[in-house]
Amino acid sequence: MAASQTKGRLSNKRISLFSKRVCPHLAVWLLSRPSGKLARVQKTEMRRQKRESPRLREIRLSLYRDRVNSTAYDALVIGGGPGGSSASTYLARAGKRVLVLEKEVFPRFHIGESLLPGNHTLFRELGLLPKLHEAGFLRKTAARFELGNDSISTPFIFGEGRFNREPEAIHVERSKFDHVLLQHARESGAEVREGWTVQKFSSDDSGVSVEARSPDDQVHHFRASYLIDASGRGNLTGNQEGLRVIHPQHRKLAVFGHFANVDLPPVEQRTETIIVRLENKWFWIIPLSAEKTSVGLVIDKDEFAASEGSPEEIFHRWVNASAAVKKRLANARLVNTIQTTSDFSYYNRRLIGHRLLRVGDAAGFMDPIFSAGVFLAMWSGKLAAETVIAALDHGEANGPRFASYEKRVRRGLTFYWRVVENYYTTPFMELFLQPRNHFDLPSAVIAVLAGEPEGGWEMRWRVQYFFLLVKLQKLWPLVPRISFAPLKEARIEAPATR
Ligand SMILES: Cc1cc2nc3c(=O)[nH]c(=O)nc-3n(C[C@H](O)[C@H](O)[C@H](O)COP(=O)(O)OP(=O)(O)OC[C@H]3O[C@@H](n4cnc5c(N)ncnc54)[C@H](O)[C@@H]3O)c2cc1C
Repeated sequence: MAASQTKGRLSNKRISLFSKRVCPHLAVWLLSRPSGKLARVQKTEMRRQKRESPRLREIRLSLYRDRVNSTAYDALVIGGGPGGSSASTYLARAGKRVLVLEKEVFPRFHIGESLLPGNHTLFRELGLLPKLHEAGFLRKTAARFELGNDSISTPFIFGEGRFNREPEAIHVERSKFDHVLLQHARESGAEVREGWTVQKFSSDDSGVSVEARSPDDQVHHFRASYLIDASGRGNLTGNQEGLRVIHPQHRKLAVFGHFANVDLPPVEQRTETIIVRLENKWFWIIPLSAEKTSVGLVIDKDEFAASEGSPEEIFHRWVNASAAVKKRLANARLVNTIQTTSDFSYYNRRLIGHRLLRVGDAAGFMDPIFSAGVFLAMWSGKLAAETVIAALDHGEANGPRFASYEKRVRRGLTFYWRVVENYYTTPFMELFLQPRNHFDLPSAVIAVLAGEPEGGWEMRWRVQYFFLLVKLQKLWPLVPRISFAPLKEARIEAPATR
């Protein structure tokens, strides 16, 4: 080996001496010319490239680009919503190299404005509370549920619950809230690229590869040890693998807008999300600021499709059909446009894959009646980050840690799915809207509304007991029956929750 190197150096020296005197250009050519084995390899490569089809060439180039762009991130996160930004902040704060690819440029509009007290624990852990305080979001201290005919109005006050850890939440304009969270991820050390759309992914023994389109419409490839899919209802990896299962009954659609002049208490007392239940549809009324209130209608997709008129006309028809909503919107003025979005409940058959975890809506989505979406996204984002951190330490591509992630997140989703399914039944509403202080059941209901999917035994047996009472209520009225028909009588305030 040493002898051949010496021989090579000598021969180069001789060429150099000879050529420099005779012809410098010849020297450059001779010296840059590959010799021996390298030359043979290059000749073979050139012959191969001549024979290569364009398709093969594209594959070879994409593999090459893949290697070049292989910047060895610990984790790559698809999507910078609450799920993605929480996961990436936890990872970055643990010293991991994380890349977030977000297809939009923030701030961008998003629906989902009422948060749960459970979010506060996560805000505190992530060091977000001062920034959220500075952003000036409105406090939320209760969730109020009403009947559309204005006969019953029941507040569930978080501060009165025994099983929830946090006494209040916030109402947010998502464009601002999501932006604060994503900026925080960036300031915590995550590399965040906005305007980048992930198109597909693959995984192998050593990591994951992602193909993404940049803002200037170029295709790029990235490598990381793990992939967290937080692409929301875009459901990138679940769709790629054909895992999405849509709930057969909950094929809903939401029609919504932002309004000024909604008849609500003065701004400092606007601390309630109001949910108004009609027979088979419901409204949300969420105060966002002194000027703005979000109002939305959730309706069966088929009923909406069969209705006459524009989305705005359909929206106002149902506003007028509900005394509880109509009185609040009597002088209201639309400040943006009425929008619609599909609101189908679904879940993915698997929440994990090889080196892959799905969080938030990319794991599953349910009718937003209990405002649990952002909480579930941030909570699963945290669990996914913890799984990746441990997997990096132990060099695992899947296994028990991943399975445990799947089990916990699925349990959380199933917990809320069950409550949502019950919500659309009349016996559930009868018990829910007329709570009795029986074994402290209202506290268990408050814990559900506050975001405690993994609450302790004291809460869980009460929730099971509540579902049993719902079954009994179907057969024998334990509390008075309710009616959705328009009423002439004055409004009845429901008994206090405790
Ligand atoms: C009508 C309606 C009302 C709702 N009301 C509430 C409510 O009051 N309270 C509540 O908590 N929740 C509510 N939700 C649910 C809530 O909006 C979601 O659960 C929550 O936003 C989920 O967060 P996420 O981070 O998983 O997804 P998202 O917030 O949707 O974030 C996903 C991000 O991924 C990006 N993305 C998608 N695809 C790609 C891609 N291919 N490449 C790169 N980036 C990508 C998107 O641009 C987006 O920014 C509501 C939902 C609906 C439909």
